Amino acid sequence: MESGAKRWGCQRKEELTAASATTVRGCLNLIRSNVNKDSSSSVVPLGSGDPSHFPSFRTTPVAEDAIVDALRSGKHNCYAPTVGVLPARRAIADYLNRDLPYKLSPDDVYLTVGCGQAIEVVTAVLSRPGANILLPRPGFPHYEAWCAYNRIEIRYYDLLPDKGWEVDLDAIQTLADQNTVAVVIINPGNPCGNVFSYEQLNKVAETARKIGILVIADEAYDSIAFGSTRYVPMRVFGSIVPVLTLGSISKRWIVPGWRLGWIVTSDPNGILQNSGVIDSITGYLNISSDPATFIQAAIPQILENTKEEFFSNIINLLRECADICYKRIEEIPFLTCPKKPEGSMFVMVKLNVSMLEDIDDDMDFCLKLAKEESVIILPGKIRISLSFPLSETNIQRIKDAGRAVGLQNWLRITFAVESCLLQEGLGRVKAFCCRHAKKQ
Ligand SMILES: *Cc1c(COP(=O)(O)O)cnc(C)c1O
Repeated sequence: MESGAKRWGCQRKEELTAASATTVRGCLNLIRSNVNKDSSSSVVPLGSGDPSHFPSFRTTPVAEDAIVDALRSGKHNCYAPTVGVLPARRAIADYLNRDLPYKLSPDDVYLTVGCGQAIEVVTAVLSRPGANILLPRPGFPHYEAWCAYNRIEIRYYDLLPDKGWEVDLDAIQTLADQNTVAVVIINPGNPCGNVFSYEQLNKVAETARKIGILVIADEAYDSIAFGSTRYVPMRVFGSIVPVLTLGSISKRWIVPGWRLGWIVTSDPNGILQNSGVIDSITGYLNISSDPATFIQAAIPQILENTKEEFFSNIINLLRECADICYKRIEEIPFLTCPKKPEGSMFVMVKLNVSMLEDIDDDMDFCLKLAKEESVIILPGKIRISLSFPLSETNIQRIKDAGRAVGLQNWLRITFAVESCLLQEGLGRVKAFCCRHAKKQ
């Protein structure tokens, strides 16, 4: 029996359990399961950043028509090349060439199943025995999940709330060693809603060059920026340091279900080519699955024909929502927001647990809030208990699993919902806090 268990046992259970427990989706499922099904009040979802089902956030008809046309043409029922169809790669290169001091070619573009698969591909390609990677804290837990799975050690550099979520550049210097393979920058920021300045990104590029590592620029939110800081893509600094840009149409076109993303290599000095990264990306894509061919085929029409008006409407809507969110949070004495969001769909809020009577931490707050008010919010850190003993090699990875975005007693709130729903949800958060306030 013992040897049978060994023979049939799954060797990667620890990594997979740790990986899946850390994801936003896993955490939100846990919070959602706590909603009181008998409650008469409707659920207010301020957890995930997917506003596609709200009427105000419906994608442009240009994008829907592009899909219909591609499908009806009957020309795209075939397999696609593993790196993606050429017209789509060309359209993405042109789209990202805006404001670049050098030009990307279609050969620099690789299509992926959303930005999520782009994360999978780059972590797989960069993994090697002993490798480590620098990730932002707070951050996007999909990176933790794939690094855990691909056995890359995670080292965190902080984003500093007192400095408007600036990068702690000294930490990047200190953390890196000869086994560091990359630093990840998420801009506009998830979960902080910040937008990094040109100067800040320039310094990150210079620091990465000094250390000798490439930059992974997660630009899933692309130019969803509505504050005073202008959004600058990291690839502008491609001649200082090689940049892998990860992106998708999921957020800017509000179609996360279409699963179309990309990896783009910005490397005017040819460093990635010589180091084998390019060949490895192609190799990995040869054995993994591709986005549906008709979605790929629709990309040129979507990128070239979407009217500026669609984007400006969405940006204005998000700016209004961010304003409402910031103002309503300021009215709640138990919550503080270090910086008004300037981009993406999220804001990070600090929870003052010591002012609340029977709330242990952010996780407890979110679970009770779901139960009593049917409002869903993502905690900064998730508590999980694993039901198997830790092996030596996995201790660090699984310790890292005790996190959502990685900051205890913080909350990540999405403001990308209909504004009346946002008002309702934050009203309920306030009522909840007042009800649980410590008596003076
Ligand atoms: C949403 C998101 C992704 C994943 O994008 P998909 O295209 O939906 O796979 C990656 N990175 C960040 C920072 C995100 O917010």
